[in-house]
Amino acid sequence: MRISTRNDSLLTRSAAAVWHPCTQMKQHESLPLVPIARGEGMWLYDCDGQRYLDAVSSWWVNLFGHANAYINAALTAQLRELEHVMLAGFTHEPVIELSERLSALTGGKLGHCFYASDGASAVEIALKMSFHYWRNSGRVGKTGFVSLANGYHGETLGALSVTDVALFKDTYSPLLRHSAQVASPDWRLAPNGESPRDCAEQAAHALERYLEQHHGETAAFIVEPLIQGATGMAMYDAHYLRLARQACDRFEVHMIADEIMVGCGRSGTFFAHDQAGIKPDFLCLSKGITGGYLPLSVVMTTDPIYAAFYDDSVARGFLHSHSYTGNALACRAALATLELFERDNVIENNRKKAAHLNAAAKDIGGHPRIRHFRNTGMIWAFEVETRDPAFARNFYRAALDHELLLRPIGSTVYFMPPYVIDDNEMELLVERTLKVIDALPA
Ligand SMILES: *Cc1c(COP(=O)(O)O)cnc(C)c1O
Repeated sequence: MRISTRNDSLLTRSAAAVWHPCTQMKQHESLPLVPIARGEGMWLYDCDGQRYLDAVSSWWVNLFGHANAYINAALTAQLRELEHVMLAGFTHEPVIELSERLSALTGGKLGHCFYASDGASAVEIALKMSFHYWRNSGRVGKTGFVSLANGYHGETLGALSVTDVALFKDTYSPLLRHSAQVASPDWRLAPNGESPRDCAEQAAHALERYLEQHHGETAAFIVEPLIQGATGMAMYDAHYLRLARQACDRFEVHMIADEIMVGCGRSGTFFAHDQAGIKPDFLCLSKGITGGYLPLSVVMTTDPIYAAFYDDSVARGFLHSHSYTGNALACRAALATLELFERDNVIENNRKKAAHLNAAAKDIGGHPRIRHFRNTGMIWAFEVETRDPAFARNFYRAALDHELLLRPIGSTVYFMPPYVIDDNEMELLVERTLKVIDALPA
């Protein structure tokens, strides 16, 4: 990477004063930080005007590109009216309209929206609400949670306790409450090359067996529908969700759909669970909901769950709160995002884009060092055969030299581009990814 002296001084100051997330800071002795000055559409520009194609949507949040004119205008107008007001005792147009529109997207089935500021907090809320629902219903023994092997639900203590990614979890295990994990339907794990559908059925049996034994002490099953993201874009058959829904119904256990990554069109439908034709009891959204502009998350739930809290007793209410709950600017950004879905017929157009990228990527699928090339909606992933223990870091650095922001998870390389990516940018992405792979040692 070429780093100028202007960039250099920002790097030193950032490494000294900013403790960066998901980072062993010592690695920045040799791996320079990238100081970004501005963004436009698919591209990020550093302080020297070097550009990088944001092929991971800035950690999976950006949907319609950087500095999107439509969202910018909506936010500027909102700034003139109201930036924020507390949501206890007060309300405002953006939060009402957003809740109504989200509810409508679930066909009114998940008609009650509770807001927070980030994904992990949404997961905390869903877990607490589920537990509290059973308590309010006199089922005080239902206090446990079950999740999928290799699942990821965020890194606050409650969310981390249902997460199953050793690198993030093991250090903190003395702080965490136990939760159970059942087999993942990830078809890459099939010992005898079973089909994705077989894997789905086998994993669903494991969940059924678990619930059969433990339903009396289980409040909820939490799952990332269709794609387990942080473990390395593990994709699975939608049939799993249908069977899991049946098992949850049969054993009276809530289903929490954590669509923080897969929601907002990422999976190819607006909600990933729609592909299974089911409805969860709780739906968590964040990341793309504001188009990648502002921190916002929401937990949506059903009439019966809401009704179990509605009472003369204060303690039976859901007293959870965050200072920025329902922030007006964030809600406005989310409304503008939903408007763009309609205005630009995004879900439909993404299908065409995905087909174009799949056609352009046939050399990736056929590459001798690449395995399991896969795609769901607007996510692509594959494993690169390598003996380099620092593959992810070395790939990331080499990709930056080729104007690409890509951040592999272990040996899994993935593309999760903003939906505004055009044909040329898709071709550039594929072409340069192949160059990066060929430049790195096996
Ligand atoms: C990112 C993510 C979270 C956590 O969201 P944060 O905003 O990072 O706290 C939870 N679940 C899934 C599936 C995610 O991808």
